[in-house]
Amino acid sequence: MTYNTELLDRAKRHPEKQKRPDRPMGKKPSWIRVKAGQGKTYKETLDTVKQLKLTTVCEEAGCPNIGECWDKKHATFMIMGEVCTRACSFCNVATGKPNELDKYEPLRVGVAVEKMDLKHVVVTSVDRDDLKDSGADHFVKTIEAIRFKAPDTTIEILPGDFRGKEGDIDAVAKAKPDVFNHNLETVPRLYPTIRPGARYFRSLRLLQRVKEIDPTIFTKSGLMVGLGETREEISQVMDDMRAADIDFITIGQYLQPTPKHAAVEHFWTPEEFEGLEKLARSKGFLMVSATPLTRSSYHAGEDFEKLRTARAEKLAKSA
Ligand code: SF4
Repeated sequence: MTYNTELLDRAKRHPEKQKRPDRPMGKKPSWIRVKAGQGKTYKETLDTVKQLKLTTVCEEAGCPNIGECWDKKHATFMIMGEVCTRACSFCNVATGKPNELDKYEPLRVGVAVEKMDLKHVVVTSVDRDDLKDSGADHFVKTIEAIRFKAPDTTIEILPGDFRGKEGDIDAVAKAKPDVFNHNLETVPRLYPTIRPGARYFRSLRLLQRVKEIDPTIFTKSGLMVGLGETREEISQVMDDMRAADIDFITIGQYLQPTPKHAAVEHFWTPEEFEGLEKLARSKGFLMVSATPLTRSSYHAGEDFEKLRTARAEKLAKSA
């Protein structure tokens, strides 16, 4: 007997989506072109990740930029396992019952950062709604381990929403990551279908809270477009982000990972992205990245330098 391995793999990764009807995956437009990674650095990045038994969102989410990023030694570590307790309809990370936390993982991330000699590192995670603190303490330990092993590396974290619990958000902010990134992902109207386990204002409040705890931490948030949102709705989200004092917005095209995931309603053209970038700049963000292949951790190191410069220039002007 022969099995369709793609179907079996999909069922294993996303059991909750199997009863959904397939949504045809249309052809990608010409401007969505990705580079395959084959270079020496790509291989070294892969070897370090495997040797230290680490997980990356680059692989788990099937990110289209993996060739380009890994060729530049830029990977985003995903902590607290490979299985997420939420079931967002856009995300390709496996869902289900997660494993126990690995208490040595923070140190292994620190060792990897040291070994790869990273100037800037991005650490994300699956959502861990099964844990009392949603994994806040594990994030704190990971930040501390990176600081211990690689004190000059700047740290960007991209956690879930900690179910809005201020004590947990505060604990992570007090560990002083350089950038606290948390994606709003889409406009509030689409939350019930696209991000059903999350709440728009809870995510927004999280970023506002980080600034209240420590205004020196840069805050960053991202949107995927192409899910049926309008330009007016995006403009409103930008206003909400500025009201929460968010410094940096990223906007990229949503790509459907499998026929069981949300369909792409529209491929925003490069010109439309330029329009969104102009709109965001007019709202007063310190930094804007809006291109079809922008992802929240794409070019994060270079962008962090620009972010620092932009803040210094703003402060100098207002002095
Ligand atoms: S954009 Fe982010 S998730 Fe994608 S490959 Fe690059 S570092 Fe990994």
